[in-house]
Amino acid sequence: MTFANAFEAVRLAHSDGFAGVELSEDHLHRLAERKPNALRLIRSFSQDHRMINSIHKTLLRPSIDSENENQRRLAVQYTLRTLDYMESAAIPRIVLHSFTDMPAFFELRGERANSGLYAIASQGIKFYRVIAPLLKAHRKSRAQKLQNNFLKSLSEIAGYSQDKRGYRSNIQVVFEEHYSDCIDYECVSYGKGKFSNVIRGIDTAHQLIRTGKDNDLSEVSGPIHFHAVDTDGWIDDHRTIGTGRVRFDNVLSNVMRRKLTETVVLENGTRRSALESKVVLEALIRRQRVVESTSM
Ligand SMILES: [Zn+2]
Repeated sequence: MTFANAFEAVRLAHSDGFAGVELSEDHLHRLAERKPNALRLIRSFSQDHRMINSIHKTLLRPSIDSENENQRRLAVQYTLRTLDYMESAAIPRIVLHSFTDMPAFFELRGERANSGLYAIASQGIKFYRVIAPLLKAHRKSRAQKLQNNFLKSLSEIAGYSQDKRGYRSNIQVVFEEHYSDCIDYECVSYGKGKFSNVIRGIDTAHQLIRTGKDNDLSEVSGPIHFHAVDTDGWIDDHRTIGTGRVRFDNVLSNVMRRKLTETVVLENGTRRSALESKVVLEALIRRQRVVESTSM
């Protein structure tokens, strides 16, 4: 979507045959500041076309697990404002990692995604190629403290979203894995107590880079928020499905058989790549259905 703001992106995703779109948190903020009415437009368009959209939290600092309490608070406050915007736009899910560590000079100032955004995104990918091992080592050495800070922020964010209404359901918070992270993904009691509206985010690319192998999800209980994306195995380079090292058969089989989710979210660098991934994924799902039906 080389020219779209968040509302146009929703409309375009619908015309491309998608059931929803995962928008960037920063874009939603910029749009809400400049065209407050756009949130209402997203809401009514999505409701008319039964679209389930989501928000991906920013990759830019400050971080919700910051060791500087002031910075952590700022990051949480920004997220709470996002939840207000999401309620206005009837967006039912926010996806977050335990941290945001992209330096502020990548910051987006406009409300529109444009070719500049992709230049920034690919700079970001290059930046991560260099920084990821250092980041991981840093996070490992501070693991317990960062995890505690993150859990504190997550419970504040989850608590605030508990009585916020998205489309068809209250707003849910997705905690998505990240390959540079050292966190224990079982440390959150998904779906229970103060985390009753928190669900686990599985990402095929992060999974492969983080663990060195494709996970079949047989150990993961649902529901999940599912990002299907390919990778070269080293970096989250948002490849078209089928052009990298992820093998999707086992994971899709588990997702479908055990009904871990009904929605697959593609994460590609461009609209064209997303459309190509969609074709490949649809074929994989069809094949999986045949396998399931002949094995019964
Ligand atoms: Zn992802």
